[in-house]
Amino acid sequence: METLWSPWRSKYIGTFKDEQEKSKEECFLCVAASGKKPDNETYVVARRKYCFAVLNLYPYNNGHTLIAPYRHIGDLTELKQEELSEMCVLMQKCVAALKEIYAPHGFNLGANLGRTSGAGLPDHLHFHVVPRWSGDTSFISTISDTKVVSIGIEETYSDLSKILSSK
Ligand SMILES: [Zn+2]
Repeated sequence: METLWSPWRSKYIGTFKDEQEKSKEECFLCVAASGKKPDNETYVVARRKYCFAVLNLYPYNNGHTLIAPYRHIGDLTELKQEELSEMCVLMQKCVAALKEIYAPHGFNLGANLGRTSGAGLPDHLHFHVVPRWSGDTSFISTISDTKVVSIGIEETYSDLSKILSSK
């Protein structure tokens, strides 16, 4: 168990820990990360040492993937160097794999930090990898977790996990 809090905040620890535990139980990224359900049910397409990649169930576009650390933390500044580095490498691999599958015209990569920015899940940091095609809409709606498209998620899962396991 990681210690996330500074000693000067110790009087708040009780409350924060409870909230932290509660938010972890309800967190779909923690559920996916835990591996308690098979990866092909939670759509985890790749696992690395510190982070993993999972398909967004409310995708903006085909292949919309999330990269997240295993740790349930929301603050970018709390990520360790090795977590951040590995997430960036995995993001690059996802872009390569999605290029191979969908040949999109471009990508949006990014994170929403805090609910105000549009994060649907502010307590568990995640980066979006969103393939883009000419004619779809703006970046803001891309990563704001709002637009829903229906796609063949099973097919995306199978293609993407296959390619990522070889990268
Ligand atoms: Zn979480």
